[in-house]
Amino acid sequence: MLFAGPLKKMKVFFQSPVKYTLEIGDDLLLVNDLIGKHWNFQYQHKTQCFCGYKVDKIFRQNFCYDCFYSKPEAGDFILRPELSKAHLGIEDRDLEWEKAYQLKPHIVYLADSGGLKVGVTRKEQMPTRWIDQGASSAIILAEVPNRYLAGELEVALKQHISDKTVVKKMLGNSLFPIDLIEEKQKVLSLVPEHLQVFLSGNSEIPLKIEYPRPTAFEHQKSISLEKEAQFSSTLVGIRGQYLLFEQGKVLNVRSHEGKIIHLDIR
Ligand SMILES: [Zn+2]
Repeated sequence: MLFAGPLKKMKVFFQSPVKYTLEIGDDLLLVNDLIGKHWNFQYQHKTQCFCGYKVDKIFRQNFCYDCFYSKPEAGDFILRPELSKAHLGIEDRDLEWEKAYQLKPHIVYLADSGGLKVGVTRKEQMPTRWIDQGASSAIILAEVPNRYLAGELEVALKQHISDKTVVKKMLGNSLFPIDLIEEKQKVLSLVPEHLQVFLSGNSEIPLKIEYPRPTAFEHQKSISLEKEAQFSSTLVGIRGQYLLFEQGKVLNVRSHEGKIIHLDIR
C-alpha cells in the first residue's frame, strides 16, 4: 500500500493498549494494525507548514519561519506557560486566540515517563498529552483556572523535578515503576502557598497507560529522515509519538511533522 503526504502527529485514543491513527494525505492508517508490517519511508526534502503552505524548510517544530515568528500557535507561552499574559489582557500575537487558549482549566501533573517528571497541560488535552509523552502512569497534582498559574506552579517544582522526558529511558522497560501517590505527597510542601488552594485531593489515583509495544525494547538509534532520506524496517510497536522498529530503531513522528513523505507498507 502506498501513501503520500505531510507527516502529522498521530492521534491517540485512550484504550488498553492505546489506539493510534495516522493521517497521511487522504488516508487514515490504523497504526496498531500495521505492527509487524514492513514500512518504507522516502523523503525528498519537501515540507509543508501547519499553515498549509508548501515551504522549503520547516523552521522549528511544525512551523515555517514566518509562522514561527507570527502565529499565536508558536508563541513562547506554548512551551513556557509561565510567560502567559492573556489573564492580564496583554497581547502577545493575537489576544483573542491567546485568551481562548490560556484562560481555560489547566492541569499540573506528575508522570512516570522512565523517570519522574512534572508537566502542564490544558485539561481538555488529558490524557492525550500524557500518552504523547509515552508516560506509563500520571497523576493530577493541581487544577488551575488558567495557563499562567499552571506555569507558575511548574516553575516552582522544576527546581526539584525534571520537566523533560529522557527518550531512551522512556522507551526502555522500567523495572521500577514510580509510586506517583508517594511522589505527590513529597512535592506538596514545595507548592507555593497561594497555589495550594488548587491542589487536587488525596482521592486522586494515577492513570496507568499501556502501549502496543514489545515487552523488551531497547532504544538504539533515532532515525532522522532529514539525514537518511530513506528508511525501511518492520514496525514492532508504538509508544508516545514514537514508532518502534526492529533493532531498536525509533522514528519520532512529532519531530518529522510537516515532512512530505512517501510511505510504502507491505
Ligand atoms: Zn507557515
